[in-house]
Amino acid sequence: MAEDNPYPPSLTAGETDHLLSTIKDWSIANGLAVRPPPNVVAAEADPHSVLATTAPVTLFPSPFPRVCFEQAKSIQRAYNELYASIAQDEVFLKNIVSEILEVDEFIAKLWQVHLKVKEEGYVQHLSLGLFRSDYMVHLGGAAVTPVIKQVEFNTIASSFGGLSSQTSALHKYLSTTAYQLLGGPIAAKSFNLPPNSSTDSLTEGLRAAFDAYSKSSSSHDSCIIFLVQTPERNIFDQRRLEYALQQQDSPIPTFRVPFGEILSQTSIADSPRRELLYRLPSNPSKTFEVAVVYFRAGYGPSDYPDEKAWKARLQIERSNAIKCPSILTQLAGAKKVQQVLATPKASLSDPSIITRFLPKPGAEIDRLEETFTNIFPLDETPAGLSARKLAMDPNSCRNYVLKPQREGGGNNIYRSAIPPFLSSLPETHWKSYILMEIITPPPIQNIILRNGAIEKGGVICELGVYGTCLWNSDTKKVLHNEEAGYLLRTKGDKSEEGGVAAGFGSMDSCNLV
Ligand code: ADP
Ligand code: MG
Repeated sequence: MAEDNPYPPSLTAGETDHLLSTIKDWSIANGLAVRPPPNVVAAEADPHSVLATTAPVTLFPSPFPRVCFEQAKSIQRAYNELYASIAQDEVFLKNIVSEILEVDEFIAKLWQVHLKVKEEGYVQHLSLGLFRSDYMVHLGGAAVTPVIKQVEFNTIASSFGGLSSQTSALHKYLSTTAYQLLGGPIAAKSFNLPPNSSTDSLTEGLRAAFDAYSKSSSSHDSCIIFLVQTPERNIFDQRRLEYALQQQDSPIPTFRVPFGEILSQTSIADSPRRELLYRLPSNPSKTFEVAVVYFRAGYGPSDYPDEKAWKARLQIERSNAIKCPSILTQLAGAKKVQQVLATPKASLSDPSIITRFLPKPGAEIDRLEETFTNIFPLDETPAGLSARKLAMDPNSCRNYVLKPQREGGGNNIYRSAIPPFLSSLPETHWKSYILMEIITPPPIQNIILRNGAIEKGGVICELGVYGTCLWNSDTKKVLHNEEAGYLLRTKGDKSEEGGVAAGFGSMDSCNLV
């Protein structure tokens, strides 16, 4: 940016105050909010959990290359189809799982649940994916045009769709109000703020599954349940989806069930169809037949403190409810799957592994592969052994991030921390990790509002594109496949992790440039 026209603009103290008070009020009035973290409001100060605060958010939409934004949106439906296909390829997933079984108990347990249900026979063949594919902008050595590189693909509990459409709405509102009142050149700057349908589009995905569910002849009404963690600080993100489901012309009964209460609040009907029944805790005489179970919990080991939790997961999986996601769909999102897709081919003439899942002409496969960055196994294959050298070398390790098979942020090991970390593990455990090249987006600046304080400086943006997909694993038909809006998350460039809920990132929206 030219010195005389910096972005974001330098603000006077008065301008900062005006912008902050505008954002603080708009965000609460419009649900761009979270429950305050305990370091901001101690539990004793809010014993009834009545307080909410503005979600961490940037003061301005970050500049984002239009070509990259279009690229990410235009391949989402192909990504949906790819992951729907992987989720139906039990042989492929079995191979992946069997490599990490002995050292990753969580993955092993998920697989056991799948096997138990398979033995008895799945009754429900429809599966729903509310996916999110995450990217960073990459400016390659000689490349003039920026491209996107995929960070990860989420198949379970892809969050922030409820808040991200509101973040886009906030920045749009500011662009016609508060920004116009700033003294500097920003007021004259035109903003290119793309529409963001994430809340409505994700809701449409849930609705498509609800409509596709064939109800039993029982007299119970059908419902959707959200399986949730308690307490949940990011509750308003989830609530916005619930309210959207409940508000349309034909409202869908939607209930929140804590993951730890599955066995007390739901049961399986004594019938060959194995309907999942939900009894309203506030009025046990009221029972619903569950059409769709949407997981916003259950993606990591901490939600399974005991065998009861695994029994609960089994109850959901073997039921007739449509799962978002099923166990196989959850496993399709394992980092190891992403690695197998993205590991460079031994020979250029080898066919792409993607042809196994998308038996289509090459162009679409090329476009997916263009978004891959190099990811290596750390096993005993030739690729794994050479990656071990890269990971243990004090110089080359600086270009890599090491990832375990976990979701939800805060699990990765970066750069120089990799060699000592690996050395602290038995070598037999290395194969449950993947080694990924660090993506370095072009430097940009922004201002983040977090818990009332502002942080100004260099930032890194991560674009997520949502996708909704409903498929039938019996007929192999895809019944619904849509791109479903976007998320822009921005973090200070000193932080490696980007999770908003994990306390590192902030909500943002794209100003297309
Ligand atoms: P999780 O499942 O925990 O969200 P991610 O793969 O998304 O795991 O990694 C968490 C964060 O780490 C990302 O949001 C991003 O900020 C950072 N990160 C992950 N992979 C890379 C990469 N290859 N290059 C740069 N940053 C990365
Ligand atoms: Mg992530």
